[in-house]
Amino acid sequence: MKTLVSEISAVLEGLLAEESLTTDYLPPIRSMSSDVIHMDGTQESRIAGPVDSKVGLEVLQKQVSGCGGCDLARGRTQTVFGEGAAGCGVMFIGEAPGAEEDATGRPFVGPAGQLLDRMIKAMNLTREECYIANVVKCRPPGNVTPNPTQTEACMPYLRRQIELIAPEIIVALGRVAANALTGRVEAIARLRHQWHTWGDIPFVVTYHPAALLRDQSRKKLAWEDLKMVMAKLRQLG
Ligand code: SF4
Repeated sequence: MKTLVSEISAVLEGLLAEESLTTDYLPPIRSMSSDVIHMDGTQESRIAGPVDSKVGLEVLQKQVSGCGGCDLARGRTQTVFGEGAAGCGVMFIGEAPGAEEDATGRPFVGPAGQLLDRMIKAMNLTREECYIANVVKCRPPGNVTPNPTQTEACMPYLRRQIELIAPEIIVALGRVAANALTGRVEAIARLRHQWHTWGDIPFVVTYHPAALLRDQSRKKLAWEDLKMVMAKLRQLG
């Protein structure tokens, strides 16, 4: 058994080596509804209802791209919506875009993203088979952790995104995503390696790839979490 764990860890460790802003818009707050509340208090249905997920995602992405719902809008180069396959097996949700993501508009393309790619490969999946997004869609200056106000302002977008993607399983990467999805402000160590649910979607919490780059000793723990996901995927067929 010890040999098997060592071999698996070795495999993983080997693999792991300004757009203009609309000023009349506030994002939907604490709501999964399709209503958008304007600053003058008027309400409008901006987010599509039960429509084709591709169209729904396009509508949502356009809405996010013009969002001025929190102070992060001022420092971004562009929003980073997310990418991947709707109806996928696994949706990975991280914290917020970094410098490379802000520059490219794509999630997880920096060093942490390259590690995530290797983690996905170790799961016998491809990036294209998954969906990758962040809780917060704009880069916090200096890559600081987004504050609760910023996270709360952006959560309605993630809720709708999950609804449209409808993944079989969600993997929350890091404390911000874990706290946002579980609603519990606790350390990763207390939330990881167990099943949680988001509506009827099972999800696990594990370390953010950036944290794994800082502390290699956590890779084995992350791999144990990902093995849970792989087993659940097999179980779901
Ligand atoms: S982080 Fe989210 S809520 Fe804040 S401006 Fe960007 S898209 Fe809007």
